[in-house]
Amino acid sequence: KVKTGLAQMLKGGVIMDVVNAEQAIIAERAGACAVMALERIPADMRKSGQVCRMSDPHMIKEIMAAVSIPVMAKVRIGHFVEAQILEALQVDYIDESEVLTPADWSNHIEKNSFQVPFVCGAKDLGEALRRINEGAAMIRTKGEAGTGDVSEAVKHINKIRGEIQLYKETLTKESDLAAKASELRVPVELLKTTIENGKLPVVNFAAGGVATPADAALLMQLGCEGVFVGSGIFKSSNPDKLARAIVEATTHYDNPKKLLEVSSDLGDLMGGISIQSINEAANKNGTRLSEIGW
Ligand code: PLP
Repeated sequence: KVKTGLAQMLKGGVIMDVVNAEQAIIAERAGACAVMALERIPADMRKSGQVCRMSDPHMIKEIMAAVSIPVMAKVRIGHFVEAQILEALQVDYIDESEVLTPADWSNHIEKNSFQVPFVCGAKDLGEALRRINEGAAMIRTKGEAGTGDVSEAVKHINKIRGEIQLYKETLTKESDLAAKASELRVPVELLKTTIENGKLPVVNFAAGGVATPADAALLMQLGCEGVFVGSGIFKSSNPDKLARAIVEATTHYDNPKKLLEVSSDLGDLMGGISIQSINEAANKNGTRLSEIGW
C-alpha cells in the first residue's frame, strides 16, 4: 500500500529551490535531479513574516517549460485544494510543506486520494510514518529551513534512524509493537516493516539548512538518500559553482579527497542565521519552522 514508485528515481540526487526559469536552468545544468519551484526561498519567507501560500501556477508552469528534470511545488499543510490545483497543473511532485503557513493545524492532506506523489517533512519516526500512512511517497527531514544551519537536519535524521534502531532492539513482543504503533498513531504493519527493514519504506532525503558541499555529504554519511537545498545556493555569490559542488559532494559523499576539491574557492556562502540566535530572538520572525505544529 505504501507508495514509492517515482521517488526512487531521485535517490542520490540534489533537489534545488528555484524562483524563476533562469535559476531552474542553472540547477538543471549543475546536475540537480529535480527543482522545487517557488516564489520566495525560505530565507526570504522567514524574514517576511507574511502568510506564505502556494506559488502562482503561472510561474511554476514557466519553470516546467524551461527544464526537463522533474518539477516540484509546495502546498500549505492540510490545503488539499492547493494540491488539487497543482495536480491539475501536472507538476511532478507536491511538497506539503511547513515552510508555508499551515492551512490546517490538525490534519495533513489525505495524500492517498491523489495520483501525484507527495513529499512531506518529518522530525521523528512517528511523524514520518503518519505522513507515509497518509500517502507520502517521500520523506525529508524538516531541518530548519532558510537558516543555513544544518544542525536541525542532523538532529532529525539521527532521531529517525535512532528510533528505528531502538525499537528493533526493544520491541520484541507483538504487544509492545502494537502499543508503540498506537502511541505513534500508525498501523502496526507499517511500524513492523520499517523496523524489519531498518529504514523507512519510502525514499528519505535531508532538508533544512543545507548550505555547503560538506553539509550535503554529512547528511548522506548519516544515512540520507539525497538532499534538498533551499536558500543556500542562490544566496551565495557563485550559485552555478556551488550548485555543481553540492551535486558532486552528494554523489561522492564518502570520498574526502573529492570533497576537498569541491569545497574550495566557492566564494561567499549564504550568511545564515544560527539556531541559537533564533532561540534567543524567540519572537520577531524568529519562530522555528520545524516547531510549527506538534
Ligand atoms: N507539522 C506541522 C507543520 C503541523 O502543522 C502539524 C500539525 O498539524 C504537524 C507537523 C503534526 O502532525 P502529526 O502529529 O500528524 O505528525
